[in-house]
Amino acid sequence: MSLEELDELYREVILDHYRNPRNNVKLADPDLSAVGYNPFCGDEVTITAKLDKDARIQAVGFRGQGCSISQSSASMMTELLKGHTIEEAEALVAVFKQMMLGKEMEEAQRLELGELEALEGVRQYPIRIKCALLAWSALLDSIKEYRAAHRAS
Ligand code: ZN
Repeated sequence: MSLEELDELYREVILDHYRNPRNNVKLADPDLSAVGYNPFCGDEVTITAKLDKDARIQAVGFRGQGCSISQSSASMMTELLKGHTIEEAEALVAVFKQMMLGKEMEEAQRLELGELEALEGVRQYPIRIKCALLAWSALLDSIKEYRAAHRAS
């Protein structure tokens, strides 16, 4: 698949995030952190986030390398997550996955995803769905780890 096959408007959004990634940092001393790797494409994404005392995402960053779909998806994800609790973040991951797998969604859910809708066309290319989901899977891993570490307290 090449990006040329996607709608032009969507392609612009993807390329903008790829060339000018948002929140392109690795935060020091993060509460959430995970690395995702997609061997099919060679994509790599590291997610880090800081939580406030209510487990709300205060700051979130990603660093990575790989194809435009994996990196733009990570960039858009970081923009979406800020200010959300980790429960809300998990719900957003579920909605994004629903879109990428072509499952039915409510209009309100679609609106929540905002610019991420640009990646919807990628679902016609199953092998690239992994690229789009990479950062999101890493985020879920980081939340799981955080919960495991804080279960006792
Ligand atoms: Zn990729």
